Amino acid sequence: MKDLFNLSGKAALVTGGSKGIGLGMARALGLAGAKIAIASRGIEDLENATTDLQNDGIDAKAFQVDVTNKHQVDELVKNVTSHFGTVDILVNNAGMNIRKPLVEIEEEDWDKVLTTNLKGLFLVGQSVAKQMIKQQSGRIINISSILGEVGMSFQTSYAASKGGINQLTKVWADELASHGITVNAIGPAYIKTPMTEGWLSDKKRYNNIVEQTMLKRVGELSDLAGPIVFLASDASSYVTGQVLYVDGGWTAK
Ligand code: NDP
Repeated sequence: MKDLFNLSGKAALVTGGSKGIGLGMARALGLAGAKIAIASRGIEDLENATTDLQNDGIDAKAFQVDVTNKHQVDELVKNVTSHFGTVDILVNNAGMNIRKPLVEIEEEDWDKVLTTNLKGLFLVGQSVAKQMIKQQSGRIINISSILGEVGMSFQTSYAASKGGINQLTKVWADELASHGITVNAIGPAYIKTPMTEGWLSDKKRYNNIVEQTMLKRVGELSDLAGPIVFLASDASSYVTGQVLYVDGGWTAK
């Protein structure tokens, strides 16, 4: 049997690949053989992350982009395609959160979260889909959250964005299937990253989060390595339109 998880010769674009979950997934895909384009706004983080990946023997290149800007997104996809020849895998991961009680959310907070998490993911997905349709193949993996599925206080805008991601994942899967493209989402529970370290530093909150999981722990970046390689590889060829929750059992409770 051929190696179902081997990504040699494939090119992957990971948005928000300069830190946290994006960098962890970029590393997992790179170690499985893929060439890696990481894309985000902060140039210093991008350069450090690229060096970090290259030190692991990965063919990695950084691209600066704000995913909320359509012109920059189209340029990004053009530049990644001309550098690597194809875009075989998209990890649509760039995102942010502003946690506030419903009655304290400013209009700007809502706009910022929805524009980054939902509009940005749409712009990148649309631009990459055009390239994948030309190739008649591809894997799109949208990074959602358990908040796309469960309710939780202080998460109005974030949960709305992630619920939207779950739904558009199914629509894209249906629309792009005839072009040889699969579209899935990963829904992590809490993972220790720069985005969550402040939130998780509260001991009571941390313990509550641990209690919500069946496996009684918070997730690590390494917990996402297998799921992302699976969804990016031939091992998942008959899987599309799904949200794979990587959450220690949280959403199944
Ligand atoms: P981090 O804050 O650690 O990293 C976010 C990444 O996105 C950075 O590379 C950041 O770089 C980039 N980014 C943010 N805004 C933009 C933008 N407008 N354009 C381009 N890049 C951008 O977050 P995490 O790694 O924790 O989260 C990554 C994804 O995983 C998000 O979609 C998040 O919702 C999701 N997730 C995270 C969970 C967790 O517990 N950590 C749980 C469930 C889902 P820069 O700011 O330099 O642009």
